[in-house]
Amino acid sequence: MANKPLILLIEDELAIRRFLRLALSSDSFRLEEAETGRKALLMAAQEKPDLVILDLGLPDMDGQDLLRQFREWLQVPIIVLSARDQEKQKIDALDGGADDYLTKPFSTGELLARIRVALRNANRISSGADSSTFEQGDLKIDFASRRVFACETEVHLTPLEYKILTLLARQSGRVLTHSFLLKEIWGHHNIQETHYLRVHMANLRRKIERDSAQPKHILTEQGIGYRLASE
Ligand code: CA
Repeated sequence: MANKPLILLIEDELAIRRFLRLALSSDSFRLEEAETGRKALLMAAQEKPDLVILDLGLPDMDGQDLLRQFREWLQVPIIVLSARDQEKQKIDALDGGADDYLTKPFSTGELLARIRVALRNANRISSGADSSTFEQGDLKIDFASRRVFACETEVHLTPLEYKILTLLARQSGRVLTHSFLLKEIWGHHNIQETHYLRVHMANLRRKIERDSAQPKHILTEQGIGYRLASE
């Protein structure tokens, strides 16, 4: 089938390439592989992939440089692969135009979930079809009337809480970094203010989560940011 999304995997590690080949060899995707940055640039231009999975540790190029080059002309979602304990690298990649990240080692389930979310967000943006409501489990947002319901009860949010929630919901499933949220909410990103963000997030969780100690909607990405669960 020609309309299966084409994924370009850029990774020098054979074991990871094998793993992805197995994980994505279902009927849902086509997969092309490049083991160097140089080859990846050529292939991306030729093959026009629907999504790129980019390992940040490549032998011939810096992954962040490659990401920057891609973002000059390539609009499709880019998911980066990164090692554990590389928070700074992940944040730089997200702020540099990556859509999401996966920390090695990751499961097939995580991989497929990230791909689904990235493709869905990309489709929604390209079709311009922003829906007027968001619904996930017991959380419902009606953007037109600016009303929010949790556990079948209307909850009253402050304008700032509502803004945070809609930012997350408009890109549900995608991680939004602290600096992105700070910039969107306060217009700048003084990293000191991550603390305020945490306070507002706690208030928001108290209002929309059944158990704010074990949030099911607003998930924390330790050291990086937050994402709203989408499935
Ligand atoms: Ca590598």
